[in-house]
Amino acid sequence: MRRIVVLGAGESGAGAAVLAKVKGFDVFVSDSSAIKPEYRELLDKYEIPWEEKQHTLPLILNADEIVKSPGIPEKAPVIQAILEKKIPMISEIELAGRYTRAKMICITGSNGKTTTTMLTWHILQRGGLDVGLAGNVGQSLALQVAEGDHDYYVVELSSFQLDYMFDFRADVAVLLNITPDHLDRYHYNMQEYVDAKFRIIQNQRPEDAFVYWNDDPIIRRELGKRVITARQFPFSLTRKEGIRAFIENHVLVIDTPEQCFEMEQEALALQGTHNLYNMMASALSANLAHVKKDSIRQALSDFTGVEHRLEKVATVGGVQYINDSKATNVNSCWYALESMTTPVVLILGGTDKGNDYTEIEALVKEKVHSLVFLGVDNDKLHKFFDGKVPEIRDARSMREAVDLCSQMAREGDTVLLSPCCASFDLFKSYEDRGRQFKDCVRNL
Ligand code: ADP
Repeated sequence: MRRIVVLGAGESGAGAAVLAKVKGFDVFVSDSSAIKPEYRELLDKYEIPWEEKQHTLPLILNADEIVKSPGIPEKAPVIQAILEKKIPMISEIELAGRYTRAKMICITGSNGKTTTTMLTWHILQRGGLDVGLAGNVGQSLALQVAEGDHDYYVVELSSFQLDYMFDFRADVAVLLNITPDHLDRYHYNMQEYVDAKFRIIQNQRPEDAFVYWNDDPIIRRELGKRVITARQFPFSLTRKEGIRAFIENHVLVIDTPEQCFEMEQEALALQGTHNLYNMMASALSANLAHVKKDSIRQALSDFTGVEHRLEKVATVGGVQYINDSKATNVNSCWYALESMTTPVVLILGGTDKGNDYTEIEALVKEKVHSLVFLGVDNDKLHKFFDGKVPEIRDARSMREAVDLCSQMAREGDTVLLSPCCASFDLFKSYEDRGRQFKDCVRNL
């Protein structure tokens, strides 16, 4: 019997193990950390052997194939040992793709993936399709394929998942944008990261669709270098030859051979330029799935947004507090600032991923009168921003940060948590950081 070893028993790893087991493989799961009780139970239910807090190499290196969870970096010793033995390594999505005939709408980009994935899923549901939500959000694709399957999936794909995808084919591939992120995982080589993102269109056929932001300089450059097999559906803020979604006179226009329709910008649920892009990508994808225009219109107007993404928390003392904890890189903070219409007190800081703050400098100078640096090491932020913003303070906890913000903010201002950084120095995750922010604001 062929043996599949799954490394990492989070949502994706546990799902991959179940699918491999259901498909008749000899399966073993190994995680270097403690496995969450819910996943231990799932593995036990399917009688899948597992280990935690260690990697026992003899039980791993005898595999025919390895399924690697996206969180495990290539430099981890266990991965190095696998590479040395030349055991094929794939991602959970690659495994799941082998066992489903569902149509795949796959979404990647440096920013906006979750929002666009959730919105697309919302529209397809409104359109009455049998659709699963998978990838970085919702249940793993593998578990859904193992336990029931759907006609369509909307799948959020990070570059780490794409790295280990080889034969998987997206019926609709969406590439939202490419800006520097996770460079620590790509040898600080931007092209490696770009190549990972472009794997979303590998294996596409002429009948498939490639939806992308037409005005992204990196995407444009790459389009000049690559052969694109699929039908192309570029979107842009302005109407141009060949553009399939654009804004004209405050109206969102979708213009594809499938169907054309218009929608007043005012009726769209999400705010901010970045969300216009996300909504165009979602509307085009839904169009390609043959969702009727009235369902698309309705869904674009009643989508409630996603937690930790420009999420309005409360207004206290005339000051609005916004939780954008998911802004873990500089570009996402740029879009958050761009959408601000009042003076801003901005919370920045956390684990730096090789950030260059030049990108937000002009917007910070224009809109931000006070900065709070929330991190264990704020040196780099001080070096960049000192002298450029009237007030700068340091905080070592969310409570302290929110208290400082409430002192510095004036009536009519916005306090924005959009930190540009990962959260792991002071928090468990960006969700933990966002929830602590919301708790502190509600307790002001
Ligand atoms: P991802 O899943 O790619 O991290 P999210 O939808 O979770 O993206 O959004 C993360 C952050 O990125 C949000 O807080 C928002 O400020 C910003 N953002 C969302 N969409 C875009 C976009 N299309 N371009 C740039 N920034 C965006």
